Amino acid sequence: MPKKEDENPLEDIQKQLRDLLNNKNVQVAFAPFMQSMKDQAKEEKEGEKGGGDRVKPPEDDLSRDEKLESIRSFDRRPKEIRDYLDRFVIKQEQAKRVLSVAVCDHYNHVRRCLADAVADQAEYVKPNVLLLGPTGVGKTFLMRNVAKLIGVPFVKADATKFSETGYVGYDVDDLVRDLVKSADGDVELAQYGIIYIDEIDKIASEASRSGRDVSGRGVQINLLKLMEETEVNLQSPQDMMGQMKAFMEMQKGGKAQKSSISTKNILFIVSGAFDQLAEDVMKRLDLNRIGFGSAEEGDATERPSSSFLSKAETRDFINYGFEPEFVGRLPVRVSCDELTKEDLAEILLSSEGNVLEQYRDDFGGYDIKFNISADAIEKIAELAAHEKTGARGLVTILERTFRDFKFELPSTPIRTFSVDGELIENPQSSLTQLMEENREQLDDSMLEDVDRFTSSFKRDYGYELKFRKPAKVAVVKEAMASNRSVRAICEKKFSDFEHGLGIISQRTGKKDFVIDKKVIDDPDKELSRWVVESFDKKEVSE
Ligand code: ADP
Repeated sequence: MPKKEDENPLEDIQKQLRDLLNNKNVQVAFAPFMQSMKDQAKEEKEGEKGGGDRVKPPEDDLSRDEKLESIRSFDRRPKEIRDYLDRFVIKQEQAKRVLSVAVCDHYNHVRRCLADAVADQAEYVKPNVLLLGPTGVGKTFLMRNVAKLIGVPFVKADATKFSETGYVGYDVDDLVRDLVKSADGDVELAQYGIIYIDEIDKIASEASRSGRDVSGRGVQINLLKLMEETEVNLQSPQDMMGQMKAFMEMQKGGKAQKSSISTKNILFIVSGAFDQLAEDVMKRLDLNRIGFGSAEEGDATERPSSSFLSKAETRDFINYGFEPEFVGRLPVRVSCDELTKEDLAEILLSSEGNVLEQYRDDFGGYDIKFNISADAIEKIAELAAHEKTGARGLVTILERTFRDFKFELPSTPIRTFSVDGELIENPQSSLTQLMEENREQLDDSMLEDVDRFTSSFKRDYGYELKFRKPAKVAVVKEAMASNRSVRAICEKKFSDFEHGLGIISQRTGKKDFVIDKKVIDDPDKELSRWVVESFDKKEVSE
């Protein structure tokens, strides 16, 4: 039910503000602030009059209209939504089906209410959803994608951060205000949004469950009101500046801004891992089985306990520590399954925009082509499954495996990075080996650069420079250390050789010269020695 006007928590503050601003001294103190408000209002008015001179509305405006229009004319079918989700979310078939139906029912209802005031008055049970399942299996991902498809704003928060009053922590009403923020302040759009509350199992209030927040019950009651239908003030009682601004707006006689938002058409999804609940259900079923001598014996040990969540009934949630009214406001209940290593591999292979694509892009940023083999994907999935954090484990493993490659490879000439199973198992030694191989490759091509220089030297001047291996290596090392080309290093070192070798050749007829490491270390000194020796009519020594 909507809150009554007299319950408005802002009333007191507004009254105090009014009294405060009627005080002459305070008016003086607030004069600059009020002036700036007036100026702002003036600019806005002029802008409106100017029409054509105004900066064009951002693209968002257009898409906002489109979004509202698509809500007003919502015509999706559950299967279409399921098919869309299939592109991104692997497995969770049951959750996809149930959510698709809930979402279609809800937005069909919204469409009918917008078109017909009578429909708006009819009794309606909002299909708020209780989504159960372990962490990282796609619960949030499903809802985010649904919101994206329908074009409605979406917010997510953890139930653990709410306090009953809001004075200590985060008030449940802040969720709705956050939804308005995520709709860029667009209240109209926000009232059709989706609010997702995770870790709801942490606010179960049964005292016997150790470590539970005793204020859980209060938070449940507050959430209950939100999920039903209530008006939430757009300004938080703790946001003094916002309060004042809204008040000034009113004072300056501008058109009254909408100050609250109704939660009537906001769809709520609450989720949690409910580990303990799975065990409770398992025990209950087990007891039943003993009673009826069920043939399903052995199931309890074979199946992961989270699979029992799908069998949870209202009484299980109440026993768990939820108010019956709270559970009652969550008529749609569905559980998501644990992801096996095969599912995790499938995510890497076929989920659109999966984390591997991000790595492909990251390496692509350095012009490095990223190839990954099927057995590498299998190994990643296997390691990720051990993490027991669902698809989040994939991120952990990929980050751990590739972090050093990301650091090293961009500074090498490697342009194709091929990842196989061996690399996933031993990333460090694979990196060392790759760098080693690459060093060879680098040396080879740079050593060839020395040969290319000697050929062009012979072509240009007619003298053969016979490089010994240590001399070649010294040139390459110098080029690498100074990050310059081999040719540039050689040209500098041998810049006086054409002249010097010409003198020697004239005196001795010699055309071939052995270049050893001494020459590279101090070319001018060696050349001078050769020239002097040629005057002594001695053979030029090596
Ligand atoms: P939770 O179930 O805890 O809400 P999320 O939906 O936040 O988990 O999952 C974290 C991330 O893991 C998602 O953003 C998505 O990239 C990936 N992911 C999780 N489950 C799936 C799935 N079933 N298919 C594809 N990707 C998934």
